[in-house]
Amino acid sequence: MRRVIYPGTFDPITNGHLDIIERATALFDNVTIGVTTNPAKNPLFTVEERMAMIRHVTQDYKTVQVDSFSGLLVDYAKRLGACAIIRGLRAISDFEYEFQMALVNRKISDGIVTVFLMPNEKYTYLNSTIVKELATFGGDISRFVPPLVEAQVKQKLRK
Ligand code: ADP
Repeated sequence: MRRVIYPGTFDPITNGHLDIIERATALFDNVTIGVTTNPAKNPLFTVEERMAMIRHVTQDYKTVQVDSFSGLLVDYAKRLGACAIIRGLRAISDFEYEFQMALVNRKISDGIVTVFLMPNEKYTYLNSTIVKELATFGGDISRFVPPLVEAQVKQKLRK
């Protein structure tokens, strides 16, 4: 069975992430979404909240699992028995960092493969930070995130 890990902060999950998840499910038998617990990123949502949202919006994908991890991604990938890591590439600006990470991860593991997937063009400008900024100023985020995520972002920002 070919298992892949899709790691990220997912604070919160967007339609861009979902686009990548759908493409990954077409390529691999099992897709584990690994939510990073890195507090340095100062996330709006707790790991549990992020995982619950991801579980809800991916419930129709029977081969998708949601998990969290801390520490080195390659160690986590090894523990899971994953053959590859999925990353999304939106623009040239993503490339340099992702290229560096992929090469480092390959070097420090037994040659784990990073697979880059490109989302539909309409998501190339989208990230979680923009969604949070828009919502903070009362902007409409309904085109960028699933309805449940929209509701949770609004609720969180009200607090
Ligand atoms: P990180 O903080 O590690 O970048 P994110 O949750 O923002 O975590 O992103 C996780 C992965 O999803 C990264 O590979 C990122 O490039 C990708 N990604 C994020 N938003 C999009 C999008 N709109 N389209 C395609 N890929 C995306």
